[in-house]
Amino acid sequence: MLLEGKVAVVTGGTRGIGFEIVRKYLANGAKVVLFGSRQETVDKALEKLNAENTSWEVDGMCPKLTDAGEVEKAILAIKEKFGKIDILVNNAGISQSTPLYNYTAEEFDKCIDLNVRALFYTILPAAKIMKEQGGGCILNTSSMVSISGQPAGVGYPTSKFAVNGMTISLARELAKDKIRVNAVAPGVTKTDMVASLPADMVARISAQIPLGRPGEPEEVANAFLYLASDMASYVTGEILSVDGASRV
Ligand code: NAD
Repeated sequence: MLLEGKVAVVTGGTRGIGFEIVRKYLANGAKVVLFGSRQETVDKALEKLNAENTSWEVDGMCPKLTDAGEVEKAILAIKEKFGKIDILVNNAGISQSTPLYNYTAEEFDKCIDLNVRALFYTILPAAKIMKEQGGGCILNTSSMVSISGQPAGVGYPTSKFAVNGMTISLARELAKDKIRVNAVAPGVTKTDMVASLPADMVARISAQIPLGRPGEPEEVANAFLYLASDMASYVTGEILSVDGASRV
């Protein structure tokens, strides 16, 4: 029970890595509000979690993450309902693999809007709440491409380099308010996001993983559990790779 009594918000919590983070946090005593893009997927995720354990305290919302006003309203509503926010996990994200010459400005903007701007929109109101309550923890989902780059779909690695920049900068800025800011950089992980990539791309990437296989969402969620817990009380500004040594 590493997160007993904590209140956590997890964006992109309806499936994949985010869903496993939510499960892990609930199993460790946290109350969790998950964000999804549609009410239908939020309801499905809540149903699944409630069926697994009826005593878990889990709620769901679907604010438009690229709308600063909507996000602020949702964060304030959570503070109103639960009295505090201890942990914010910015996990929602989209990947892209379009070659540059086929890319459009709209596609690039879509990636930056969700993978970068939306983080700023959740962090701003949440950090104010955390400061007022005397501390907190912000976690962002980065990617191994934030270290190695990616040979197509330039918006995606660009967005994750930005996630690292935001993480390290805010860790330095918010340390005085006892707010730790870290990121987890997964490698190829078995989720829908990977299923939507071209099969030859996934096979090519997997063959190069030193540990010889893609990661499981639960293996990534374990890193999020550690970083959110008091076990990581002196860890901030860290980009923790969970990638089977793919980046090196
Ligand atoms: P996924 O597609 O299974 O889940 C993505 C989540 O983001 C979903 O819950 C979805 O509802 C949410 N989301 C997507 N678009 C949204 C939008 N417009 N508004 C609100 N929510 C939206 O993907 P995943 O693999 O679990 O990815 C989660 C995070 O992990 C992402 O930030 C991704 O960049 C990162 N990541 C994934 C991998 C991988 O191999 N799966 C590797 C490195 C990093």
